[in-house]
Amino acid sequence: MLAEKIEYYLKELPKSVKLIAVSKTKPEELIMEAYNVGHKVFGENKIQDLVRKYENMPKDIEWHFIGHLQTNKIKYIAPFVNLIHAVDSFKLLKAINKEAKKVNRTINCLFQIHIAQEDTKFGFNNSELFELLDSNEFNDLQNINICGLMGMATYTDNKTQIANEFKFLSDLKNELKEKYFSNNPDFKELSMGMSGDYKIAIEQGSTMVRIGSDIFGTRNY
Ligand SMILES: *Cc1c(COP(=O)(O)O)cnc(C)c1O
Repeated sequence: MLAEKIEYYLKELPKSVKLIAVSKTKPEELIMEAYNVGHKVFGENKIQDLVRKYENMPKDIEWHFIGHLQTNKIKYIAPFVNLIHAVDSFKLLKAINKEAKKVNRTINCLFQIHIAQEDTKFGFNNSELFELLDSNEFNDLQNINICGLMGMATYTDNKTQIANEFKFLSDLKNELKEKYFSNNPDFKELSMGMSGDYKIAIEQGSTMVRIGSDIFGTRNY
């Protein structure tokens, strides 16, 4: 079942789109089922779960942190995390830089942008982001690598609205690429799309989809 789902996505998704299998709350045995059919990219949103799974599981897994990150917990994942999807404040970015430096790494990050109508979702608005990017302090951060943007659309049946929100993110990425990141070939990612809206996200230029429940089944919190 799960193996078939993984194979379905790997076949279905365009080559330009990376599958992040969101394994949060799911046991290691299930993740191993996906691993055993060749999928090695997983997303988690709780630090203690991510650390435990990293320690217990094969070391060639690429771990993505997709949740809201607290500054005092960065140190636990700094040695191994592959990409932090949801950087939503300058304070957090500076703290990631500091922890990355301590372990002699450059940590890949995405800026989370608030694109949904709900105000429950985290993320920068445009003016906060431009202020950050224009600051000298930002240019001094040597141990982070900004690879693009992440966003979550409103939870709604209105496909036009979802498409518009994803398009907003895609347009912002293009604008930032031109103004701030034209010299960084890694700045190219758009992490957008989940089980319910990944097709719309891909139409709007997503390069990373974060699929949880459709692969692993519904979650019991
Ligand atoms: C849980 C989660 C997902 C996966 O959601 P599904 O609807 O289960 O596919 C994607 N992104 C983030 C940030 C999440 O927290």
